[in-house]
Amino acid sequence: MGARPLLNRRLAGLGTTIFAEMSALATATGSINLGQGFPDTDGPAEIAEAAVRAIREGRGNQYPPGPGIPELRSAIAEHQQRFYGLAYDPDTEVLVTAGATEAIAAALLALLEPGDEVIAFEPFYDSYAACIAMAGAKRVPLTLRAPSFRPDLDELRALVTPATRLLLLNSPHNPTGMVLGPEELDAIAALAVEHDLLVVTDEVYEHLVFEGAHHPIAALPGMRERTVAISSAGKTFSFTGWKVGWVTASPELVAAVRTAKQYLTYVSAGPFQYAVAEALRLPDSYYAGFRADLLRKRDLLDAGLRTAGFEVYEPQGTYFITTDITPFGEKDAYAFCRTLPERCGVVAIPNSVFYDDPDAGRSQVRFTFCKRDEVLRDAAARLQRLGG
Ligand code: PMP
Ligand code: GLN
Repeated sequence: MGARPLLNRRLAGLGTTIFAEMSALATATGSINLGQGFPDTDGPAEIAEAAVRAIREGRGNQYPPGPGIPELRSAIAEHQQRFYGLAYDPDTEVLVTAGATEAIAAALLALLEPGDEVIAFEPFYDSYAACIAMAGAKRVPLTLRAPSFRPDLDELRALVTPATRLLLLNSPHNPTGMVLGPEELDAIAALAVEHDLLVVTDEVYEHLVFEGAHHPIAALPGMRERTVAISSAGKTFSFTGWKVGWVTASPELVAAVRTAKQYLTYVSAGPFQYAVAEALRLPDSYYAGFRADLLRKRDLLDAGLRTAGFEVYEPQGTYFITTDITPFGEKDAYAFCRTLPERCGVVAIPNSVFYDDPDAGRSQVRFTFCKRDEVLRDAAARLQRLGG
């Protein structure tokens, strides 16, 4: 095939995702998988039933409408109103996607020109780097530093150049668990308005906030018309395999994102869209119960990691805990995660792969706690073998 690499240069070096690599390692070694973030118990039985019913009744078995089924678009609009007081027109301001992943891809492919700069928090969720690269744009990291992982707003201001087109936000933030507070959001919004920047905000962990609350940046002055808000059903309802996500934004932004989306998947997940419409309308007690359950799990794993000897950075949100392995006399998170299965039968994710700056996250390791209590207890017991 000649000397030219098959993978184009935009994607060179991206390889297999760390989540796939570490889940494969968990399977191969029979380890407890606290790597990839997916729950080991499914979401509400009545929502699973709703999907089965939709299939049986022939709802969504053929191509659903491009922007998503009207029932789901209405349920998404109601959800934004109910939790955040934000009004979106389900016909022109809501777009259903194949998970948040497709929404991120479609938004970046639609809104970026080659050479545009995108400022995003580092450590990055891995698909951001790939999608920015596919759009031919340039990622500009704002490094979140331990122990608080709060963004340095002066540093953010200094990163804005005439080439900056877009801020790509993620709060609650994967992997660190940092949740942007009201003052931080105000400052970021003011900067976006001042420099006329677009904002794409990944809010998939919106219902997983343990301290404070999730505040959508779209609610702030001047932000509604420049913000593409993204979320999905996977995390909130514990059905990560269903891949139903969505975008809420102005009609102009939705139209732009839809243009890219229609050539990525066109449509997806017909019957699941009906089920997610029901899920979004679950009572407040569902959302509160889900959060309380995960908070208990966070505390369980947090305690186990501390007694095992890790330095633990308690997350304010998400279902991940970032730790530091320096107390074990180790400093290479990737090497640590490769050998963790043979040392104690547990799999985790090295945050180092989410940084451009190799030093910034070299010794950070992420564990997920969206697992049954007995699994978390077993993992914690195994980790004590590290002898920290
Ligand atoms: N954004 C973040 C920050 C994530 O952690 C994930 C993974 N769940 C996604 C997007 C992808 O979400 P989905 O599974 O809905 O595509
Ligand atoms: N969002 C999940 C995590 O951070 C994984 C999703 C994926 O495998 N791409 O663990």
